[in-house]
Amino acid sequence: MGFFSGAKTLGILGGGQLGKMLLSVTRQWDISTKVLDPSAESPGRLACNEFVQGDLMDYDTVVAFGDQLDVLTIEIENVNTAALETLEKRGVAVYPQAKVLKIIQNKCLQKVFYKEQNIPTAPFENFADTTALKDAVGRAQISFPFVWKSAAMGYDGYGVKVVRSNQDLESLSEGPCMAEEMVPIKKELGVIVCRRPQGEIAIYPLVEMEFHPEANQVEYVISPARVSKKISEQATAIAKKVSQAYQHVGLLAVELFLTQTGELLVNEVAPRPHNSGHYSIEAAYTSQFEQHIRALLDLPLGKTQNKAAAVMVNLVGKEGFSGPVHYNNMDQILGIEGVNPHIYGKKETRPFRKMGHVTIINEDLHQARKIAGQVKEMMEVISK
Ligand code: ADP
Repeated sequence: MGFFSGAKTLGILGGGQLGKMLLSVTRQWDISTKVLDPSAESPGRLACNEFVQGDLMDYDTVVAFGDQLDVLTIEIENVNTAALETLEKRGVAVYPQAKVLKIIQNKCLQKVFYKEQNIPTAPFENFADTTALKDAVGRAQISFPFVWKSAAMGYDGYGVKVVRSNQDLESLSEGPCMAEEMVPIKKELGVIVCRRPQGEIAIYPLVEMEFHPEANQVEYVISPARVSKKISEQATAIAKKVSQAYQHVGLLAVELFLTQTGELLVNEVAPRPHNSGHYSIEAAYTSQFEQHIRALLDLPLGKTQNKAAAVMVNLVGKEGFSGPVHYNNMDQILGIEGVNPHIYGKKETRPFRKMGHVTIINEDLHQARKIAGQVKEMMEVISK
């Protein structure tokens, strides 16, 4: 095998919080790692064996970084996929595979993929640019309201806008995009699937995401989701189908909408550790991060069930504060049973920037959700 206290090296493109949490597993197992990130202050820099500062979108940088690696993975989708193809040709095991990432990086291609694969998703239409979209609206081919999504580089809702009027249309940025039908969402759900190179999979229980009403960002992740057994089974079956369609290696986080009428639609996927799986560090038999490493190294997958119910709350920068970060009331929240804070180590806070998360575990889900609300109230991420 050669990874455990061995000469083989795992590379990670991106050294943000997801990289940092992956690295706690490689530390536990004494696996040698190398991380590439544009920021010299990235949270992952401390836990890897070798840190390289560089641009994840630059072909030469990524090829030079990956050339001597045995396995290469990502913690962010926006990386140079042509470089990954070159590395694959040179014999590096790149997971997720370049072909998978190329589809997922582009929201328009991703939606076409679901349509082709007969995977339920909201109706949509792709446009080469915003002008073409405006023309379609002008011809009454598309009607308000609809959801505009930029094809590329979306992140935490930044490339997504609800368009209700001609005025909203004017505020859209240029570039390839889609118009998606507005879904009457009852709940947003998530399923994480992990897949080994030969196709063996492990599926985590369905989780539910509660959103911050203004920031359009996930505020709480609830595990297990408070839905019927039937919905849970249907969502799991859809996620399994999505995983089979992509034939990815490693984690695939599948985001779904449960509509007011009880329909399940795939929104999008992420082929990497995901915010909706952070709860698994404390609550599941095998954390998503360990599971990802198991799959990448082609090791047996671990048990995905929960040991207790869990609610994760994201710690984001408070509105009105920008600058060197300060965490208020850490001592208070640590006094509550079952509270597990994670501080990512970003030096600067900004409104709604993801700075950490707290997982509350409890035998009773209702109680865990209640404590999560208290933690959210108490914990303040501000600047000094
Ligand atoms: P991102 O990749 O930036 O997270 P998403 O496609 O997940 O973007 O959209 C962000 C959020 O916007 C979703 O979680 C959901 O709340 C809302 N949203 C996205 N698509 C639709 C839709 N078709 N109808 C209604 N709400 C939507």
